[in-house]
Amino acid sequence: RNEVKRRFSNKVIVVVRVRPHLANERAQKATNILHVIDDKSVSFDPREEGEVYRHDVWKRQATTFGYDAVFPRTSSQWDVYAATSQKVIEPVLAGFNASVFAYGATGSGKTYTMMGDEKEGVSGIMMLTLIETFKQIDQMPGDKRFSVSVSYIEIYNEKIRDLLDAKKRDLPLREDRSRGTIVAGATERVVHSSDGIIDILREGAKIRTEHSTAVNEHSSRSHAVLQIKVTHRAGSGTRVGKLSLVDLAGSERASRTGNKGDRLAEGAAINKSLLSLANCINALCQPRGKAGHIPFRDSKLTRMLKDSLGGHCMTCMIANVSPASVATEETFNTLVYAGRARNI
Ligand code: ADP
Ligand code: MG
Repeated sequence: RNEVKRRFSNKVIVVVRVRPHLANERAQKATNILHVIDDKSVSFDPREEGEVYRHDVWKRQATTFGYDAVFPRTSSQWDVYAATSQKVIEPVLAGFNASVFAYGATGSGKTYTMMGDEKEGVSGIMMLTLIETFKQIDQMPGDKRFSVSVSYIEIYNEKIRDLLDAKKRDLPLREDRSRGTIVAGATERVVHSSDGIIDILREGAKIRTEHSTAVNEHSSRSHAVLQIKVTHRAGSGTRVGKLSLVDLAGSERASRTGNKGDRLAEGAAINKSLLSLANCINALCQPRGKAGHIPFRDSKLTRMLKDSLGGHCMTCMIANVSPASVATEETFNTLVYAGRARNI
């Protein structure tokens, strides 16, 4: 166990996933502004796009960004899973915490990556992770006793809602000395095999808040967090590992969506939590002793994940981007954000 601890503590993996062009992007005759150079780098080159020189920050030339892995549009759900979530199963079964985030603008592929596409019969990372978790538990020596439970919540406008019980719309966060940070009163479902999971994910997806904005008719304005808790009872005591799989809210700026009033307040709350998430991951990436203050308290999301970020925890960030010129600004912002998250 100490060996697992040493290998995984404070480890942060940042990958970029480029999705294929969508029908509406092809219809707008969008050009391609991203070129995957190799399995770790991508080139951002908006020169062909008419608007390109609006932003000096784009440097008027191709910029290359490097990450732990870069996935081209042809990559499968399994490819992305194998480089991210699959790597955290071992530490979670050993009783450590981990988190996997899907980051990106609305329409960039976050939900596709995490939940898959039911109509197409494509599983997402949440499903693949649970299947593999049960597979690994089954392979454990017989004297070990594991149990798995899941909760599924969303954070919308700094309020925590239960995605497995529509009546619970404002759950409080508690810090428990032995259990870490908990969402008090959240529904916990015990699962015995990966079979039961599909229904839970469907149930949650139905309750999940969807509001239309000028950018995308069904853009998600909330963070969805599937938390998998693995409890291991052995003669010597009980160990609990928590894995949080997070479909983050769209990272586009509120100003771009043209929203007013309520919706603008939503945008502000969302941006604040994405910023504090970046700040926390950044602080955690600093060499030991230099980290200083880690700003967990700045948002509900980071407060909730306080016991799953840093320390003896492992973190994966999957940054989703569109390669189409119509999304140039969002894509650039995401590449920079993910670069900062990795900045070690
Ligand atoms: P987000 O959750 O970031 O707003 P979605 O996951 O809903 O974005 O993706 C937007 C659209 O793009 C959806 O129609 C989705 O099916 C499609 N899409 C996203 N990623 C891929 C991919 N890797 N391959 C095929 N289609 C994708
Ligand atoms: Mg989504």
